Amino acid sequence: MMSLAPLGDQVRAYIQPASIEHNLGWLQRHLGQFGTRPAPKIWAVIKADAYGHSTAAVLTGLAQADGIAVLTLEQAYVCRFLGWHKPILVMDALLTANELRDPVLSPLHLTVNNPYQLTELEKGPAPSPPYVWLRYRGSLNHAGFEHTEYGAAHTRLQRLLQAGHLAGLGHLQHYANADDPAQLHLERQLFSQVFAPRVGPRCTENSASLLLDPGFASDTDWVRSGIMLYGISPLSGSNGPSLGLEPAMTLEAPLLAVQHLRAGQAIGYGNSFQAKHAMRVGLIRCGYADGYPRNIAQNCPVLVNNRPSRIVGRVSMDTITVDLNAHPEASAGTMVTLWGTKQLPIELIAQSAATIPAQLCSGLTARVPRVSTGSGRCGDRLEPRRPPHEG
Ligand SMILES: *Cc1c(COP(=O)(O)O)cnc(C)c1O
Repeated sequence: MMSLAPLGDQVRAYIQPASIEHNLGWLQRHLGQFGTRPAPKIWAVIKADAYGHSTAAVLTGLAQADGIAVLTLEQAYVCRFLGWHKPILVMDALLTANELRDPVLSPLHLTVNNPYQLTELEKGPAPSPPYVWLRYRGSLNHAGFEHTEYGAAHTRLQRLLQAGHLAGLGHLQHYANADDPAQLHLERQLFSQVFAPRVGPRCTENSASLLLDPGFASDTDWVRSGIMLYGISPLSGSNGPSLGLEPAMTLEAPLLAVQHLRAGQAIGYGNSFQAKHAMRVGLIRCGYADGYPRNIAQNCPVLVNNRPSRIVGRVSMDTITVDLNAHPEASAGTMVTLWGTKQLPIELIAQSAATIPAQLCSGLTARVPRVSTGSGRCGDRLEPRRPPHEG
């Protein structure tokens, strides 16, 4: 016997711009406590469609950030179209000299990661010159210049700056081990040596380093923070809510149906779960095709109507099954929370799946609707603009 909810009860990711705004305020207060210089400015990192939260939903919560950092030129255009007027840092795009000339992107900041970008910048001044951050390669070794090449690259950019072809010139690096105190210290020593002989502001810190050793932020002019703005801790062994952050994404689906199992009956692929006693199991329309991890440990937690329960049986492509034995009131339509509340932070699910929370939220697939729950206090300051190519 099975009772059904109305069709179309798929999983949804509810996004709370007000929580993003809270987390940004938390970081601003946190940074304000250190050093005698003014607190560093904040780049809110929203690459990968805001770590899966959706650019449109989070921008309204980020109005107080000093700028936003994206990976691609495409996302920079999306943000301008959505009405973001403050600086945008493009961290990865290989912008050609022509692309650099598009005034719609201004005020534009760029990381310079390789000699190709230097050559493009040297092709002549843009009407609204970009602000440039020269990236040191560090021990991450993904992008940037090694210490042996850094000085020469900096000298070339310094010439462009003096000729008025750049709006500014700074130093940037990205940690390989920001969550390990000893390694963090070593990396800081290395880039400090490279930057010390050269003038210019610095942009060095990320969420993990800001939490692990925030005092260093008083030596930097801009910080780049992503994961913690979404209410997620980058440090293993802690979670966002325990730090005072608010999860900005709640993944939820209503119960689609209730199955009754007799003692000895199994459920799901591989029949990996067998009922010891008669029990009720709830089905929800979410699975690994939505980005929920298949490789969770046994008894992975969920909330049924805000009270604790667990997943039983295997996560399949479209279906997850949950234990309803302690939830006699649960029926089709009852809400099941998969992650993203104070009681059930995403860090718990990441731990169960032996991964990091960023992989879970950024790995939600296109079929999960991102539903914004309110515009945030500053949302009305964003006014959509016409796309640049509509003439
Ligand atoms: C992703 C990224 C960040 C933000 O890192 P978080 O750990 O999410 O704070 C900062 N800088 C660069 C270059 C990045 O790629």
